[in-house]
Amino acid sequence: MKITTKEEVLELLSLPYEEFETTVIPEAKRLYREQRGDVLISSAMLGFSNICKNRCLYCGMRAGSAVERYRISVEDVVAAAHTAQEMGFRRMFLISGEDPKYGYENLVRMIREIKALGLHLSLACGEFFPEQYEEFAALGVEEYVLKFEMSDRETFNRLNPSTDFDKRMKSIEAVKKSGMKLASGNIVDYPGHTLSQLADDILLMKELEISWAPVIPYLPAKGTPLAEEGGRGDIFLNLREIAILRLMMPEVNITAQQPGRDLTKGLADDEGNLLALNAGANMLFADFLPDALVGNFSVIDNRVTLGLDHIREMAERSGMTLV
Ligand code: SF4
Repeated sequence: MKITTKEEVLELLSLPYEEFETTVIPEAKRLYREQRGDVLISSAMLGFSNICKNRCLYCGMRAGSAVERYRISVEDVVAAAHTAQEMGFRRMFLISGEDPKYGYENLVRMIREIKALGLHLSLACGEFFPEQYEEFAALGVEEYVLKFEMSDRETFNRLNPSTDFDKRMKSIEAVKKSGMKLASGNIVDYPGHTLSQLADDILLMKELEISWAPVIPYLPAKGTPLAEEGGRGDIFLNLREIAILRLMMPEVNITAQQPGRDLTKGLADDEGNLLALNAGANMLFADFLPDALVGNFSVIDNRVTLGLDHIREMAERSGMTLV
């Protein structure tokens, strides 16, 4: 199935779901099996600071929100990476809010010590200067996550008032130039998101040649301005995006940590994870945040993720090979 134009993407986004489910989704899964051997990639994950200077209108950790703040020291992040490695993880994903006071030198020290363990490292700490991305690359960081969130300039500028679309796209280009792989993507079905904008989002991911699509349906975070404008995004529209991305980019990694219809289990919902794996997604994350802090890394409400046992169970139930 060749998908290159906006019209073709829109046609698939508009198919009756039953038809999409019986034609496009099996084709996406078949392609993944054929090209990638049906592996389920597991990664350790740690949100090491929930402090953020930005005020994205959809985020529960935006500056000024009531969430209790924390920072995890470099020593403790490195200790978590050691544990992850001992448990058999080969990948680590470190994420934080845009927290300048964490200290750039501390970040560099953290990267050095984790790379010394030989782990594949993906980093998501926001916008930096090009030379800083270059330093991350030189230190061995394989992948940097910087989402464009929405390809519509006007919407981006409204929902992300602490930066702007041009600045974000320049940072994204700087990541690519640095030599690190770029992970990027959108939020699916936020209030006001149109199918035409969603098609543009998908085409932008293709154009940017991303390595990983950390995509997710919109999930409102209590007390945020965007939560006033509308409720959760459609998980089935999100599944359509996953299958279309898989068909357009057989090599891309796609987050399978997805919610199901019941939001109480957050992103570790069996239904949500299995539907995503079946539609061509291939990555699950084990959360290394101490239990007492999990609720505080609240970009969205109820951001439940689970550990290795859950990932093993998902591999078994989906018939995929865990790596
Ligand atoms: S989405 Fe990220 S950058 Fe925006 S407020 Fe939340 S943590 Fe900060």
